[in-house]
Amino acid sequence: MQISPDGNLLDDLRSVLGDRVRDGDFELGLYGKDGSVLEGRPSLVCLPVNTDEVRQIVKICREHDRPFLARGSGTGLAGGAVPVGDPVIIATAKMNQILEVDLENRIAWVEPGVLNLDLTKELTPQGFHFAPDPSSQQVCSIGGNVANNSGGPHCLAYGVTSAHVAAIEVVLPDGSVTLLGDLAAEPPGYDLRGLFVGSEGTMGVATKVAVRLTPNPPAVRTLLLDFPDVRDGAATVSAIIAAGLIPAALEMMDKRAIEIVEAFVNAGYPTEADAVLLVELDGLPGGVEHGVEVVRSVAERHQVGNIRVAADNEERELLWKGRKNAFGAVARIKPDYYLHDTVVPRGKLVEVLEKVYKIADAYDLIAVNVFHAGDGNLHPILAYDSDEKGVLERVHAAGRAIVTASIEAGGVLSGEHGIGLEKRDYMGMLFSAHDMATQDLVREAFDPEGFANPLKVLPSGSRCSDSFGQHVPDGAWV
Ligand SMILES: Cc1cc2nc3c(=O)[nH]c(=O)nc-3n(C[C@H](O)[C@H](O)[C@H](O)COP(=O)(O)OP(=O)(O)OC[C@H]3O[C@@H](n4cnc5c(N)ncnc54)[C@H](O)[C@@H]3O)c2cc1C
Repeated sequence: MQISPDGNLLDDLRSVLGDRVRDGDFELGLYGKDGSVLEGRPSLVCLPVNTDEVRQIVKICREHDRPFLARGSGTGLAGGAVPVGDPVIIATAKMNQILEVDLENRIAWVEPGVLNLDLTKELTPQGFHFAPDPSSQQVCSIGGNVANNSGGPHCLAYGVTSAHVAAIEVVLPDGSVTLLGDLAAEPPGYDLRGLFVGSEGTMGVATKVAVRLTPNPPAVRTLLLDFPDVRDGAATVSAIIAAGLIPAALEMMDKRAIEIVEAFVNAGYPTEADAVLLVELDGLPGGVEHGVEVVRSVAERHQVGNIRVAADNEERELLWKGRKNAFGAVARIKPDYYLHDTVVPRGKLVEVLEKVYKIADAYDLIAVNVFHAGDGNLHPILAYDSDEKGVLERVHAAGRAIVTASIEAGGVLSGEHGIGLEKRDYMGMLFSAHDMATQDLVREAFDPEGFANPLKVLPSGSRCSDSFGQHVPDGAWV
């Protein structure tokens, strides 16, 4: 065991958790990173197994004037789980039980460390699933989904995480335990549940979540449409929705994405096309077949090439395998990538896409685009090789230019990955000082001393930065 610089904190935590408090170099290094390129270092890592242990950790942290940071699977892409200010990490990996499935009321109570896909796998044979399906769903946790209000391909029709969470048990930053929301359809009072969802760990630690169960659709159709020009693909996206149809999913890939995905999964993606749309329709069989005809006729008015309708579930899964493995497939061209996340009005997709290509060229980077086109959520991937000297500076500069272009087009900073550390200092691009001060006041209502995930989301950080700012390690992020 290492000698801790703060023996009392370690001893106090060990008196509750025993060897589930980790202070080894390897683990502290591991928990210093998430899915972003950012990096920090926690003071200690705790692996609680229940709410009471989380409550005691928070209390001990307060006694030692030490911030804490809730962590799920560490797949976040905005640095939300990257430690700054020497926090104690509260990792929920061992709180991974599905506690109760109530089919009659279509609610399941789960612990925050349950993995998104594990929940759906458990529910599917019973005729239900958890609708938010981030592309990382095999590994990301429900607690992380709640904290980031995560989306996914099927959130176009079904809504993002907030629409699927009825209530949350939370250990507040003062160490008390409370329930936000309830199972009634219209709970009285302020929607504090809604406030907590998307708060990125800055308002406490979610220890139990009541998620809503979505029935599996009786019929599903998946179509792959290819276009000789990316502009026609993007115009089709808007036209499908203008025709009154909200597909379950409406995803787009550009030429470079099609090429690498096809080489990776051999799903029969048309490599000669400039763009493809992956469209999924679900519901009652008659409505789904009608939807297929609407998509077909809209696409034909926009110079579609081929329209492939998956004949069976196997073909459908193959088409989705391409989309869901797109990020991993980037390794075929470069060993590293930076995945961006902005939202623009659907009608501005092409304009911003063209800017993305120009920005990537200007910074000598490769841009690949795979995105939730239906809701205007752009995901430019900048592929690079971290062994190249100075490349990360170019990647960050290009990222900032992409965010600026999106905001100039009427978009916002993040569609689903959150603000975290990555975009904290971009908040001023979108919000006035007064807006941010008001958001700070809301945060302070939950956490007046700034113990919960300090120095994230809001640049001012209010009392968070006053209390813990001196602990920020130099060069933790660029
Ligand atoms: C390949 C890839 C694809 C992705 N695709 C998508 C996608 O399609 N859609 C999408 O929205 N995101 C996507 N993501 C991003 C990421 O997977 C999601 O944001 C996910 O919800 C994070 O979950 P996590 O368990 O990994 O959280 P972490 O990364 O561990 O934490 C994320 C944030 O949540 C907070 N947090 C975690 N647990 C708790 C808790 N119990 N209580 C309070 N706060 C908590 C943390 O403090 C942090 O701020 C993708 C990531 C990768 C790597």
